[in-house]
Amino acid sequence: MQGYAAIRGIGVDSVIVRFLGTHNAESRNTRLVSFLIDDTLAVDAGCLASELSFSEQEKIKAILLSHGHYDHIRGIPAFAFNNSHQATRVFGTQQTLEILCSHLIDGLIYPKFTDRTSFLGKPALELRTLEPFKPEDVEGYRVLAIPVNHSIDTVGLEISSGDGKSIFYTGDTGPGLLSLWEHVSPHLLIADVTFPNRFGSVAKDAKHLCPEMLKVELMEFRRVKGYLPQVVLIHLSPKFEEEIRGEAQDVARELGLSISVACEGDKLII
Ligand SMILES: [Zn+2]
Ligand SMILES: [Zn+2]
Repeated sequence: MQGYAAIRGIGVDSVIVRFLGTHNAESRNTRLVSFLIDDTLAVDAGCLASELSFSEQEKIKAILLSHGHYDHIRGIPAFAFNNSHQATRVFGTQQTLEILCSHLIDGLIYPKFTDRTSFLGKPALELRTLEPFKPEDVEGYRVLAIPVNHSIDTVGLEISSGDGKSIFYTGDTGPGLLSLWEHVSPHLLIADVTFPNRFGSVAKDAKHLCPEMLKVELMEFRRVKGYLPQVVLIHLSPKFEEEIRGEAQDVARELGLSISVACEGDKLII
């Protein structure tokens, strides 16, 4: 962190977000959703092992999961396999952790990395249940999980640093975020925008957002909070990326704020 800070000439209290995967579909050029906070905290695990060197993986102390869909947990078994010499804590709701244990680290397709017998008598993964609205201290960050509107149990995650820098990641969500805005005060909002506006009804059914829906959510945010955060879009469908970018810029102009689209490899400092 100090290294980046020195390069950019910013204070060491800044939080660095590094995007590893920013799409909902995997290909040579696109990865499933995952990002790092200050290189030590991973948020979702769509591509956690494949986008990091072994030494970068070793620095990760904890993983926060928004929900149990494959595109958000896919990287966990490979990560645990590579890092079975050290314990990594994995935070998720009860349903998310159950999905992880029954479908990926189930003792059949991958070892049960949560068992004490997995390596040197220690578990590689220590599971911790996230209770909605109950703040957790995770490696010095305050983490608050808040349910959002998706097809299985999903939480948005507010991650706040010790000096008060705050990020809210929506996880996968459809419209209807109004009731959660009173609980969070992010400097940076990382929001699911999967589809362009012409697929608004598909987005609604699949419980994702399109730019026009995000605009409504942001207008509610401004009404409740009295300000607008910096916004970064994630979980884009690669097929519609250019269309979404254009529509997001329309929203940014209309509301007078900064909206950018996260790309694999991007680093953001707040
Ligand atoms: Zn999902
Ligand atoms: Zn997803």
